[in-house]
Amino acid sequence: RKSTVVITGASSGVGLYGAKALAKRGWHVIMACRDLAKAEKAAQSVGMSPDSYTILHIDLGSLQSVRQFINDFRATGRTLDALVCNAAIYMPLIKEPLRSPEGYELSVATNHLGHFLLCNVMLEDMKRSPAPDKRMIILGTVTHNPDELGGKIPPRPDLGDFKGFAEGFKDPHSMIDGKKFEPVKAYKDSKVCNVLTMRELHERYHESTGITFTSLYPGCVAETPLFRNHYPLFQKIFPIFQKYITKGYVSQDLAGERVADVVADPEYKQSGAYWSWGNRQKKDRKSFVQRVSPQARDNDNGKRMWELSAKLVGLA
Ligand code: NDP
Repeated sequence: RKSTVVITGASSGVGLYGAKALAKRGWHVIMACRDLAKAEKAAQSVGMSPDSYTILHIDLGSLQSVRQFINDFRATGRTLDALVCNAAIYMPLIKEPLRSPEGYELSVATNHLGHFLLCNVMLEDMKRSPAPDKRMIILGTVTHNPDELGGKIPPRPDLGDFKGFAEGFKDPHSMIDGKKFEPVKAYKDSKVCNVLTMRELHERYHESTGITFTSLYPGCVAETPLFRNHYPLFQKIFPIFQKYITKGYVSQDLAGERVADVVADPEYKQSGAYWSWGNRQKKDRKSFVQRVSPQARDNDNGKRMWELSAKLVGLA
């Protein structure tokens, strides 16, 4: 039996190269993507063999679409052995918030709320898989963590007292803390929620299910299209800066291998862990379990995030 992994946002960047690496290691990859034609082209462009993947539609920004995806996945009859929550949007230059169909600010809706619903519902699918080693993984980032050099650049993430979430997260709210809209902070806040979600999943379900819940920072993958909504000059300079100044630069291929390791390698079967390879890349750099940011390791934050997110996605 071939193991099956679902990867969200596998049409580009880290998700695409993770899909490529896992297909090579003999996994069947469900590429959960919002643009089917783009995903097909992307899979072909990295040389994935046609029988190593299935492309299914998902728009993480829409709760209804997430539910439809889960139905479509179930209809394939495959088991769920691993889930990689990777899709994300980053819109640093917008002045006004974009909204999901439910009316939520779009980057938090896509990066966090869509994945929160997906993980919660697909936990049932994963429990049903007979595989002895099952893993649920959410991509983190160094910018979630102001304790790290890469996380010190303002604006810093801050979930505050969750006022925006508690009051329904619709207009006039666009930030989790209920403050003024700031798109870079919205992205960072969503990634703090991703790390908190992983840690809460671990707390709540690791012991009873044996599932491994982890997160990772693959390094600065400066050439992915994540920065497509930034100034063109930034897109040019950022990879060079990361390669030669900060030495944080990681190729898409290497980032994909790191994702595949966290999914499949026995070394990474440690639930609750946040994996990092550090910020300064050297050849054959070893991974280590890194302490997450103060906000992302605060258990009360985790509980509050969970309770309010469950309400916003219609689980509570
Ligand atoms: P990309 O922009 O290259 O890829 C993002 C993927 O998410 C694309 O496949 C995109 O689809 C998909 N996506 C976006 N919105 C939606 C949606 N509503 N529904 C479904 N899919 C969607 O970014 P990266 O590969 O760089 O980022 C991937 C992950 O890695 C993110 O979680 C990011 O936070 C994390 N990360 C990235 C780092 C980096 O340096 N690049 C560093 C640390 C973490 P489409 O192709 O249709 O646009």
